[in-house]
Amino acid sequence: MTKTASSVWKECLSFIQDNIKPQAYKTWFEPIKPIKLSGEALTIQVPSKFFYEWLEEHYIKLLRVALLKQLGEDAKLIYDVRMENSYSSNNPHTVKFPSSNRNPIVPQGVTVPMDLNKRELKNPFIIPGIQKVKIESQLNPNYNFESFVEGDSNRLARSAGMAVANKPGGTSFNPLLIYGGVGLGKTHIAHAIGVEIKDKYPDKTVLYISSEKFTQQYIDSVKGNTRIDFIHFYQMIDVLIIDDVQFLSGKTGTQDVFFHIFNHLHQNGKQVILTSDKAPVDMQDIEQRLLSRFKWGLSAELQSPDYETRVLILQNKLYRDGVEMPDEIVEYIAKHIKSNVRELEGVLISMIAQASFNRKEFTLVLAKQIVDKFVKNTKREVSIEYIQKIVSNYFELDVATLQSKTRKRHIVQARQLAMYFAKRMTKASLASIGSQIGKRDHATVLHACKTVDNLTETDKQFKKYVEDITKKLTF
Ligand code: ADP
Ligand code: MG
Repeated sequence: MTKTASSVWKECLSFIQDNIKPQAYKTWFEPIKPIKLSGEALTIQVPSKFFYEWLEEHYIKLLRVALLKQLGEDAKLIYDVRMENSYSSNNPHTVKFPSSNRNPIVPQGVTVPMDLNKRELKNPFIIPGIQKVKIESQLNPNYNFESFVEGDSNRLARSAGMAVANKPGGTSFNPLLIYGGVGLGKTHIAHAIGVEIKDKYPDKTVLYISSEKFTQQYIDSVKGNTRIDFIHFYQMIDVLIIDDVQFLSGKTGTQDVFFHIFNHLHQNGKQVILTSDKAPVDMQDIEQRLLSRFKWGLSAELQSPDYETRVLILQNKLYRDGVEMPDEIVEYIAKHIKSNVRELEGVLISMIAQASFNRKEFTLVLAKQIVDKFVKNTKREVSIEYIQKIVSNYFELDVATLQSKTRKRHIVQARQLAMYFAKRMTKASLASIGSQIGKRDHATVLHACKTVDNLTETDKQFKKYVEDITKKLTF
């Protein structure tokens, strides 16, 4: 029997169906149409660019196994992205993907041929011996400056990043440290700088690496007795981008080796770019000499985007995905999701998935449902009991001490913080909070809340308590 696109795809589907949840199958595989088989290359049609990215990100392994079974070792998969908007009742129209007008670092486009056998990223970290090695930059070309929406919240970081990209190693922003909370775009900017440098200076060796991977490589090099090679390897890089350096806290060996690499690069006019979830002053368990190096350059903070920027970010994302959504829905999402950009994107992804799954249009009702779910997940109500536990843990007390009558200052503060968080994070009345936290009355709770508010404004250490505990309570 000769194979056709549909026969091959049918077999793939039955394998896929056995391996994933029915809803996921329905959402992501039923809408796919097999359209062409030539040799070992199967072309499938997907409804949008977003769809293709989602498949690549979440189901590539499964697809690969299914295809290898059907087409053998040389199987290839090609996506054909349909240029029509299946998410609204509009007639099919052409989706214009923005042309970024630059040479991609890896081949990519709307129709994406993919060599299934080479999907795994090549390990760029083969320790070089004498022969030259090719170092893959590990940059994601989608994280570029064009796709990074500018706003007040990120202007400094963005323009510092641009300046560094124009003259790597040649500005006083060395190192450039970008810091800020989760999902605010640190990784995106870090890649964007690297991508821009590769565009402008193709001969420069750029390397992006997470601190976690860096640490792991270092540990491996110690085990394998190749520590010196490890250091030499990193000293060859022209632009070194290390993401999430807070991860190095407490890891003295890795910090030490990084210190040497850093000094070498810096002395030789090479550029170092770092990201962190904290400002240098707030980093803990990072050696002083390393911290002082961080301060040599520029630290730029990424803040939460304001409403206008959130709208722009959503519009930008929709545009890139070739999806149309009514303004009022975009505005609704931007109004309600304030925490970070990753969540904004999360809501969009859910919207698109839900709408395509149910073949529904985007509606405010749907937006509301999804936003509610997101907001609830992040701000789920915690119990007063739980708050007391977290606060006590944080100050290394037990709950009984926290509730006791003692007037020792640090215990009083802990108690006041527990009251403050109970007021902020639960719907309980002042009286009920008081009775649950050491049988106090409502006036005591009110006083506690005011005290915490005041101290947060005037006392830096205290502010940090509030931030730390907030984090513990919300994750
Ligand atoms: P972080 O590393 O700070 O946790 P990321 O860089 O991973 O955050 O960003 C989370 C998501 O939000 C990414 O998909 C990123 O592309 C997107 N994002 C963040 N800031 C912006 C922005 N200003 N414009 C467009 N997309 C953004
Ligand atoms: Mg990140």
